[in-house]
Amino acid sequence: MSESHPSDVLRKMAEEKLAHENDDSSPPRSAEELLHELQVHQIELEMQNEELRHAQIALEIARDRYVDLYEFAPVGYLTLSHDSKINSINLNGSSMLGEDRKKLLHRSFSNLVAPEHHDCWLGFFSDALEAIDKQTCELTLQHADGKRIEVRLDCLRIKTDDADTELRIALTDVSEQKRLAHVLEDNNADLSRAKSLADKANLAKSDFISSMSHELRSPLNAILGFAQLLEAGNPLPTPSQKGRIEQIIQAGWYLLGLINEILDLAMIESGRHPMKMENISLSEVLLDCQSMIEPQAKKKGIHIDFAKVDEQCFVYADRIRLKQILINLVTNAIKYNRPGGAVNVAVQTNSDGRVHIGVQDSGAGLSAENLKQLFQPFNRLGQQTGSEEGSGIGLVLSKRLVELMGGRIGVESVVGVGSVFWIEVHLTDSAESDVSEFALLKPVHDVVQAAIQAAFRATPEPFPLMVAPRTVLYVEDNHANMMLMEQILERQSGIKLLKAGNGASGIALARIHVPDVILMDINLPGISGVQALRILRADPATAHIPVIAISANAMQRDIENGLEAGFMGYITKPIKVTEFMEVLETALQLSQKIKDAKKEADK
Ligand code: MN
Repeated sequence: MSESHPSDVLRKMAEEKLAHENDDSSPPRSAEELLHELQVHQIELEMQNEELRHAQIALEIARDRYVDLYEFAPVGYLTLSHDSKINSINLNGSSMLGEDRKKLLHRSFSNLVAPEHHDCWLGFFSDALEAIDKQTCELTLQHADGKRIEVRLDCLRIKTDDADTELRIALTDVSEQKRLAHVLEDNNADLSRAKSLADKANLAKSDFISSMSHELRSPLNAILGFAQLLEAGNPLPTPSQKGRIEQIIQAGWYLLGLINEILDLAMIESGRHPMKMENISLSEVLLDCQSMIEPQAKKKGIHIDFAKVDEQCFVYADRIRLKQILINLVTNAIKYNRPGGAVNVAVQTNSDGRVHIGVQDSGAGLSAENLKQLFQPFNRLGQQTGSEEGSGIGLVLSKRLVELMGGRIGVESVVGVGSVFWIEVHLTDSAESDVSEFALLKPVHDVVQAAIQAAFRATPEPFPLMVAPRTVLYVEDNHANMMLMEQILERQSGIKLLKAGNGASGIALARIHVPDVILMDINLPGISGVQALRILRADPATAHIPVIAISANAMQRDIENGLEAGFMGYITKPIKVTEFMEVLETALQLSQKIKDAKKEADK
């Protein structure tokens, strides 16, 4: 902008200047007045000239600045005529187009566009000439030497003085941006490929684990089952034979424990069994643990004390897993205790919204070195040579489980005094109603459970001789397991065994013979034992028959699910012959009662 003054101001300034120069002269006469006038004009013009010179200098500076901006802007600027000829272009623009500026002027921009984008460019160009507002597109340009760059074009149509139309274009090099986007896309694709591979591998791993569980347990069932039959067989084994059989049985159960723990850990790691988190009553969990663990403590002569917990104390956890952890800790506390020692389970709520459950033993305690090695698989801290069996996986498993529940696990120990293994889980406000999908079957299940528990509590009595032969149907696809069952039941008088190799033939046999009790394997070819159970329950002819699951699926979750599904009992392979016979006897008696009740009702 010129800073020229309005002419009247200049005139006034000129007059003042002249007046100042003629300071001491007398008042002007008329010729003198004219001269004076001219002199004023002259000075006025000189001053105007000066103003103009200043304005021109300012203009030149502004122009230089503009040219710098134009030429060295980080984008290319160019104007195209209505027939796409380059009218002007800045330095950066010409370097983006890979040519000297002079060679580019008056050339058609279309010739610089990569062949495959030609049509796209022509369409865009004619649209942009018509459009009023800014238009944008992305293109690939190709240099004379074949080099290609990706650019974004921001275009604005301009009407020039001679009524012609020009297109002003800002060119931005987006090659790097595009390259990064491609890299990102590729990386994402790689990532999702890797993830789906990992998912597949995980699934394969879980399937492998679950079939391995089955494959390992089935032969173990035969080994342990037949060994138990030998032990109690007829003729009775000699004392030395008995000793050897005991070794087989003991090693078998130890192997089973190992298999269970390793499989459970692997299952957790594979994510196959996610935590089933809910609000659960801590006092209920502790009471359950107490009743499960007390016989074990008694046997070892260890005094065990469980803290009394308010019934209104709820924690957010997986019920089965929390029990599993506590039982593991308490079992360890009993195992690694001194003779006549004590175990104390204490509960205390923290201010951070967690509950602290500590299991204190009066064992040998752990050294600092030992403490470091805790929570590592197969590390039994020098107990390997001791009389206690264990894989050392229990603590590893407990740690994983507590952490999956958002809790903590730890230990404090004093050598010679004992250790406190503790866990912390989140407290919560209230119990949530837990409506099971098998809720309809629940009443049956509860009655049956009560009966089974009563049977377990009572000291087993010799099996009463029944006059009428009783029929048991066993649905099992494993030959050795079927043979074992035949030989177990052979020793019982008055039980007739029906055999089915799969669910469908089991259901058919059940409909024809209406057995007193059905024993059902879960993993069967064709329909599973659970599906077979549902079909039996839905049929009025077979709905009343107690069905006991005998399965190699021995995870606590499998057992609870099985009982919820409506199995009267759930026996895991390998079978403990005596326990199995107790459950079977309870089922047979229940079956008899149901039959009697039906007869009464039919009268
Ligand atoms: Mn099977």
